[in-house]
Amino acid sequence: MYFDPAYLLFVGPAMVLAFVASMMTKGRFKKWAQVPGARGLSGAETARYILDVSGLRDVGIEPSRGMLSDHYDPRTRVVRLSPEVYGGRSVSALAVAAHEVGHAIQHHENYGPMALRTFAVPLATLGSNLAYIIFFVGLAMQAMAVAWLGVLLFAGVVFFQLVTLPVELDASSRAKAILWERGLVLPQEREGVSKVLNAAALTYVAAALTSILTLLYFLMRLGVFGGGRRND
Ligand SMILES: [Zn+2]
Repeated sequence: MYFDPAYLLFVGPAMVLAFVASMMTKGRFKKWAQVPGARGLSGAETARYILDVSGLRDVGIEPSRGMLSDHYDPRTRVVRLSPEVYGGRSVSALAVAAHEVGHAIQHHENYGPMALRTFAVPLATLGSNLAYIIFFVGLAMQAMAVAWLGVLLFAGVVFFQLVTLPVELDASSRAKAILWERGLVLPQEREGVSKVLNAAALTYVAAALTSILTLLYFLMRLGVFGGGRRND
């Protein structure tokens, strides 16, 4: 299979950032998972409490499988928490539980970027499966229309990554605000909550950066920046 070193040069730094951010997220989660929250509440109890005071008694909470598999499912309106978060009583568990509830509140309030993100999910799935193949087949066959179709499909991935950013950052700032305001974490635990959530946010920034640079690489291969100088 053909590989272009220019691709690594272009996208490599963002991939390194993505790797570092993912290691940081796991590391910080583990570190603050050793620190019990002074109030003694579990992640599930914290999530239930925040949902109830936000008028979302009908949103369910279920345990999910796998570390950092936590998510909110807008179709079934269920917050799913990984075992460490669901039953855990650590600062990490509280941070992640409150973040996922943040998504449930966004859904309830029809938060604009979340609706856009839901709309973009099928585009991103299609794009991430097909864009590379279509682009390189088009390039190899010198069929520019096909290569541009690949670019268009990949633009769907970039769009998804970009609308994911405000959704994730907003869920974390809602989580912090509620945890502070309701006294669910004590002032000395705030640092841990922020560190865990900020590392997670960095993974989304890195993913967005990777997809933007990949799109720029595609455009470069099509000669958009250099007047068609490359045509191998
Ligand atoms: Zn999230």
